[in-house]
Amino acid sequence: MRRRTGLLLTAVLLTACRPTASATPTAPPTPPPDQGEAQASGAVSPEPDQPGRISVGGAVIRLEYEGSDLPVPPEVSEAWVRRSATMVSDYLGEFPVPSLELTLSGRGWGDVGFGMHQDGRWITVYCGRSTEEDDLVNDWVMVHEMLHAAFPDLARRHRWMQEGLSTYLEPIVRARAGNTTEQSVWRRWTRSMHHGRPRAGDEGLDITHTWGRTYWGGALFWLMVDVELRTQTDNQKSIRDVVRGILAEGGNGRANWSTQRVIEVADAATGTAVTSRLYARMAEAPGDVELDALYEQLGVARVDGEVIFDDDAPLAHVRWAITSK
Ligand SMILES: [Zn+2]
Repeated sequence: MRRRTGLLLTAVLLTACRPTASATPTAPPTPPPDQGEAQASGAVSPEPDQPGRISVGGAVIRLEYEGSDLPVPPEVSEAWVRRSATMVSDYLGEFPVPSLELTLSGRGWGDVGFGMHQDGRWITVYCGRSTEEDDLVNDWVMVHEMLHAAFPDLARRHRWMQEGLSTYLEPIVRARAGNTTEQSVWRRWTRSMHHGRPRAGDEGLDITHTWGRTYWGGALFWLMVDVELRTQTDNQKSIRDVVRGILAEGGNGRANWSTQRVIEVADAATGTAVTSRLYARMAEAPGDVELDALYEQLGVARVDGEVIFDDDAPLAHVRWAITSK
């Protein structure tokens, strides 16, 4: 079970990722290692892989360990990192940054706790003592953190856009790679996406920065972008074109962008005004989404806690394509 806290990280550019709601609070983690000493290199060496050094999607990922002993052997940890990076690379065409310093920190009792990403250069993921190989095979945290490297840093008040993108894309990337199922994706979304809707008194996503609005409000924004792009273009354009278009302009986790630039590039990459229109409606104003109506259009229903699909629904082709095309 992932845990939710009201943890506020002190480092301005540090992003703690915790999109899953749960009632159990946890103590704040020990701060990450002194990242000023880490060496970030843009060079991709042709050297073959060796322990702690993984080449995936044109990038070199260097893996370090800290804290107590990790409960799984290094080769299992490395397979986890490689699998996650491969899924991200396959979705994007290549890994979004040329190199990454990745620290696995053994702390606490649970399994994979949470991760932090900084500047498209450093990722730290906390693993508790009860982490087992199966937890890593089914893990979402590593993919979520790596996806942060595929989107530019924005001013703090737009952080919902970054967290929302990783929250929305992670299960899609894993489903397309066969690491989770369409059913699991929609089970999670139908259970949690409503946290992102504006509550009474909430303003737009740029103004109201609660946990729900940041993670799930951001995910809901990108879901709407994806659905509207696919609906307008008969699945010819999607959120993947948005992210790839931004990356093609240099907008990875090492870049600092304005939301205006994100929106302009997103609209240009898709030949639509979908992203700018939804930004005006949901970020600058508290535009709500009638989720039950949306699910009905997409052919998604929950019956006795299980997700049922209706392939005759008007947007069933859009729903199917989100996790497969
Ligand atoms: Zn995150």
